[in-house]
Amino acid sequence: MIKSLNKADLPLPQPRVSDPEVLAAEIIEHLTYGIGKDATVATPHDWLTATILVVRDHIIDRWMESTRAVYANNAKRVYYLSLEFLIGRLMRDAMSNLGLMDEIREALASIGVELDVIAGLEPDAALGNGGLGRLAACFMESMATVHIPAYGYGIRYVHGLFRQQMADGWQVELPETWLAHGNPWEFERRESSYEIGFGGAVETVAENGEEAHFIWKPGERVIATAYDTPIVGWRGGHVNTLRLWSAQPIDPILLEAFNAGDHIGALRESNKAEALTRVLYPADATAAGQELRLRQEYFFCSASLQDILRRHLQQGNELSALPDKVAIQLNDTHPAVSVVELMRLLCDVHDLDLDTAWDLTSRTFSYTNHTLLPEALESWPVPLFERLLPRHMQLVYVINAKILRDARKNRNFSDHEISHISLIDESGDRRVRMGNLAFIGSHSINGVSALHTALMKETVFADLHKLYPERINNKTNGITPRRWLMQCNPRLTSLIRDTVGPDFLDDAEKLKALDAYADDAEFRKQFAAVKRTNKEQLANLVASRMGIRLDPSAMFDIQIKRIHEYKRQLLNIVETVALFDQIRTHPERDWVPRVKLFAGKAAPSYHNAKLIIKLANDVARVINNDPAVRNLLKVVFIPNYNVSLAEVMVPAADLSEQISTAGMEASGTGNMKFALNGALTIGTLDGANVEMRDHVGEENIVIFGMTADEVGKLRAEGHNPRAVIESSRELSQALAAIASGVFSPDDPGRFSELVDGLYQHDWFMVAADFNAYAKAQRDVDALWADEASWYSKTIRNTARMGWFSSDRTIQQYNTDIWRA
Ligand SMILES: *Cc1c(COP(=O)(O)O)cnc(C)c1O
Repeated sequence: MIKSLNKADLPLPQPRVSDPEVLAAEIIEHLTYGIGKDATVATPHDWLTATILVVRDHIIDRWMESTRAVYANNAKRVYYLSLEFLIGRLMRDAMSNLGLMDEIREALASIGVELDVIAGLEPDAALGNGGLGRLAACFMESMATVHIPAYGYGIRYVHGLFRQQMADGWQVELPETWLAHGNPWEFERRESSYEIGFGGAVETVAENGEEAHFIWKPGERVIATAYDTPIVGWRGGHVNTLRLWSAQPIDPILLEAFNAGDHIGALRESNKAEALTRVLYPADATAAGQELRLRQEYFFCSASLQDILRRHLQQGNELSALPDKVAIQLNDTHPAVSVVELMRLLCDVHDLDLDTAWDLTSRTFSYTNHTLLPEALESWPVPLFERLLPRHMQLVYVINAKILRDARKNRNFSDHEISHISLIDESGDRRVRMGNLAFIGSHSINGVSALHTALMKETVFADLHKLYPERINNKTNGITPRRWLMQCNPRLTSLIRDTVGPDFLDDAEKLKALDAYADDAEFRKQFAAVKRTNKEQLANLVASRMGIRLDPSAMFDIQIKRIHEYKRQLLNIVETVALFDQIRTHPERDWVPRVKLFAGKAAPSYHNAKLIIKLANDVARVINNDPAVRNLLKVVFIPNYNVSLAEVMVPAADLSEQISTAGMEASGTGNMKFALNGALTIGTLDGANVEMRDHVGEENIVIFGMTADEVGKLRAEGHNPRAVIESSRELSQALAAIASGVFSPDDPGRFSELVDGLYQHDWFMVAADFNAYAKAQRDVDALWADEASWYSKTIRNTARMGWFSSDRTIQQYNTDIWRA
């Protein structure tokens, strides 16, 4: 045993090389010694695993380098806490960022394996619902790309978002089993385990003359174990860690119970602990108020904070330096309980006084708000919160008293304002407001588009904004151009590189150079040819999965996103029905052939959203079987929307539907993906659409409908949808057809409640915006008819969307909030 050895002096492993012959040998090496399979019996999955292990080795070299550098510099680290990471597949991402794509393809070909075949077998990691989770995944990639030392923290759900199947046009939810073949990307870190408590009681230890000390004695405990996935940035320059927590029992088996013959009871604890991280809550933009959800939130927050503090102290830092070394970003309110957990750890475990702990806490946290929808603002019944987290409940009261005292005394707030600021909602059954907690516990609160941030100041956080006017700021969302241009659209990427050179690969804003080619007839032809090939690829997918033939020369008009009334798939479907009617009535006119494509999942408990899916499928069946509109109109709902499907659909779109009720979509990121890939947007002035118009130019986007202000006014004054519907022949006929069972002859009343909702309140302004939308669609037809002008516009979209790179968003977070 050599005792005096300095570990830093140990020889480093030889960095891997990227020669295809060497890579082929490495793949066979992993197949043999890592998986224990001979090449003659290896399944395609075995080859996939072996290939991922080789790619992973290449990442590890750089991961170790990154980690050493961050430790050596004692650098400030960013911690991104998110209950969701909608990652998708990782292999292409990693190969492309490492610059290994061609070499691996060649290596595999030399041993008779096709890269595209095994890449298609990689499971799509859907540990998120939609935009919020995908944003977290884009941010992880961008933080690595711009060299910010960062950890993502979340939950390793055994079952991610459900798999969607259609049964006679109805959504059916099946469990997703992304871990069925193991997960070669991750490293289990048994040594990074923490105890997480729930319930129990708080003991007060009064030391003579000194401040009382509180000790939480939880009634239940589970273990959180870390699983690490390395996230490699563009060109492999920096690698960060995505650390996901899995719940394990303290005692896997209660031997006493087992020996006494209670074999099932002996496993109860184990099952209960593991249930904690079994499934992702499938609701998007609605708070899930169940106890298991609060348990999930506290579980991952507590594990993450214990881990963060351990790392901070292990580096030799003082607790007082926490805000200088640690920046914690809360992705929505789901991790808001972290604020109280950090207070508990600082006060009860590390013996800081309350004021010092509060100062450190609020300088460490920042919070991103994602929605203004009242039904999505999380709050927990006080009795539930108190039963599960008794010490945290005490701390909530202490913090609340401190804030309210300050608001009353120093700022002259009225009782009404105080009731809005309070951490406790007293208006009905008493509830803990997680939005207010996240706001009060953070030094920065950001919205995700300019419009959303402005509305936040006027609505949900109006009173807190008055109390802390310097805190709210905007960080408009972005998307990573690696996944959403370079990987999903290799043909367009090559064309751009051949035309303007490779600078845009490192700085998406350099796409601007394409502007000069928007009116170049030769370039337009090439741009159109790429779009055409991408559409053929999507048509092949639809033919093989659904048996429907699509004509790639028709306009591909696409709306893909979660199904939600505010996103207004219903507006699109009703307009499709009206168009169907028009084509049949006026067959002599020059109709633009269109394919209407939809995809998206509905929350299993969201009745109207599921009905909208059924309506899309019923309308599709009737239209697709009507010879009168053959070749002019097709409607397709592709099942099981996820990141991998988006990667095929986005590059194939001519028209991108971003038609939410103004004021209700915080930002959107789907809108950005499409425009970047050369689709024209038809959209409302909502979320980031507003800034997209500013960037691409108003002549290159089709904007229609009411503004957020107008929606607010109409709601306040009283909207009379019946009058609106009756004054539009097109709309009333379309609604009459839907309501009378034209598309549902087997159950004519199926959609009457959907249509009644439009007549009675039309909360989402489907009727109110219908005429403007229908007119905008005919404007789109006219644009399409002028092919040269159409492609000039779409080229300008690609050229001017570089600002929406998540690299820009992350740089802004870092400059204004994290300062890492
Ligand atoms: C980008 C993306 C979203 C978000 O789409 P929006 O149109 O912004 O709602 C949702 N799901 C998946 C799979 C995505 O890739």
